[in-house]
Amino acid sequence: MTDEPTMRIVIVGGGTAGWMSAAALARFAPPGYAVTLVESDAIGTVGVGEATIPAIRLFNEALDIDEGSFLAATKGSFKLGIEFAGWLEDGHSYMHAFGTVGRQLGLLPFRHFWARGRALGLAKPLAHYSANELAARTGRMQVGASGPGIPEVPYAYHFDAGLYAAFLRDYAETRGVTRIEATLAGARRAETGDIAAVVTADGREIAGDFFIDCSGFKGLLIEQELQTGYDDWRHWLPCDRAIAVPCEPSGNFTPYTRSTARPAGWQWRIPLQHRIGNGHVFCSEFMSDDEAAAILLGNLDGPALADPRAIPFVTGRRKQIWNRNVLAVGLSSGFLEPLESTSIHLIQSTITRLLTVLPGKQIDPAVVDGFNRRSAAEFENIRDFLVLHYWANRRDGQPLWDRMRGLELPQSLQQRIGEYLAVNQIQPAHDELFTEVAWFQVLAGQGLIPRSWNPIADRYPEGELAGFLGAVEKDCVETVRPMPLHIDCVAAVCGAAKKEKAA
Ligand SMILES: Cc1cc2nc3c(=O)[nH]c(=O)nc-3n(C[C@H](O)[C@H](O)[C@H](O)COP(=O)(O)OP(=O)(O)OC[C@H]3O[C@@H](n4cnc5c(N)ncnc54)[C@H](O)[C@@H]3O)c2cc1C
Repeated sequence: MTDEPTMRIVIVGGGTAGWMSAAALARFAPPGYAVTLVESDAIGTVGVGEATIPAIRLFNEALDIDEGSFLAATKGSFKLGIEFAGWLEDGHSYMHAFGTVGRQLGLLPFRHFWARGRALGLAKPLAHYSANELAARTGRMQVGASGPGIPEVPYAYHFDAGLYAAFLRDYAETRGVTRIEATLAGARRAETGDIAAVVTADGREIAGDFFIDCSGFKGLLIEQELQTGYDDWRHWLPCDRAIAVPCEPSGNFTPYTRSTARPAGWQWRIPLQHRIGNGHVFCSEFMSDDEAAAILLGNLDGPALADPRAIPFVTGRRKQIWNRNVLAVGLSSGFLEPLESTSIHLIQSTITRLLTVLPGKQIDPAVVDGFNRRSAAEFENIRDFLVLHYWANRRDGQPLWDRMRGLELPQSLQQRIGEYLAVNQIQPAHDELFTEVAWFQVLAGQGLIPRSWNPIADRYPEGELAGFLGAVEKDCVETVRPMPLHIDCVAAVCGAAKKEKAA
């Protein structure tokens, strides 16, 4: 008899990806699985990544993480959506708010009634039919229903990703994950070609049966060792650098992310409790680092808290995120600019997918194939969604934006836009991340209005249609009216956690 665990999982890297993977395995891996995480304090993490989408709540809930403790530990705030300012043209703004816009009537989604109402001059801009957007724009937020019979507004978080990794490290180590501080120099292969061990710079070996590569952009195992290859998508999404800088918080503690279009890219604004995260994503073909930094620093809410930092990236995805006995999670698996806050979500979905086919020592190639196919589709769907934001612009005379308007779209996106413009049809696959409501908000927000709608919407007399639209708008107002201010909501949720801890 031996006490050796039957399955050794080694995680390389201790950024958000590494510690999310470690925490999830600590929570769900069965007995006999030993998890070790290796990270290098000398190398550090990418140090950005603050905005999420609502699915993150499922991850935290699955790990039994208390919301108040999490928000307090990560200096987090609530997020009801993303504002896109200037993306269509300067002075224009719309929101991709989470949750529903309007409501279905009979079998038909709201967008058909809105399109007909718009054509008849009866419908207001979409913002009037989204409780999330109304709450966001008026700085209000409530966890749970704001009154009897009123549905909760869906939300995500902004948080300090470094603090989240530290929070999850504590969680994972408490539940048996072993952390090793070391700088890795490479790997040793088994005769099969699989990775047998990772090797530290001072020659020590850490052996494993399965490796999760969370080493960031470089992809220490998936690329440097296994040379898996990378699909470069810069012809569709040409931005390739970001300058990031935190600034002091202002009185404007908004429960949403703002993305503001700039001449060669866009700027993010993410309010946390202790600071505002800011960054400028841009295309180096059209702008230098100095110009990008000047634009960023000239558009902050308060004084900068650090020197601006440049982060280069290549948009695209690893050709196979699972190769041999290595799974890439996080930046090592690919990168899509943070326009829709999808990177941390991709970490979450990759881990979740791994848990559904948790490998033992023998790995079936069919499982790997299926995994890679689903991951590729997930990346491609998000890519299409991001491209849409750029392509449908009217920012004439700015070289990046002019190029994006003339872009040859991925076929999948071309088909989707064509069907929408023709008959207002949007039908994402059942496992796509972004729902038809999300697509609709961005399509309409970017000025794409369908030429027609489902004729069933014509069955409703004009008066009835106006009444319906008015009732939906009133419901949104009633949902938001009792909500506290966002700042008070954060204080209450964090305060409740502190009280519980003290009791
Ligand atoms: C500009 C920008 C903005 C972003 N904004 C968002 C956002 O708003 N929302 C969002 O969801 N995502 C965002 N992201 C993505 C997000 O930052 C990442 O998905 C997330 O931080 C995960 O990073 P990671 O853990 O994969 O890599 P990293 O944070 O780079 O961590 C890599 C880890 O590997 C370790 N390591 C590397 N090499 C070695 C070695 N040789 N030996 C030992 N250890 C090693 C490092 O020490 C570190 O612990 C953004 C990314 C960028 C670039």
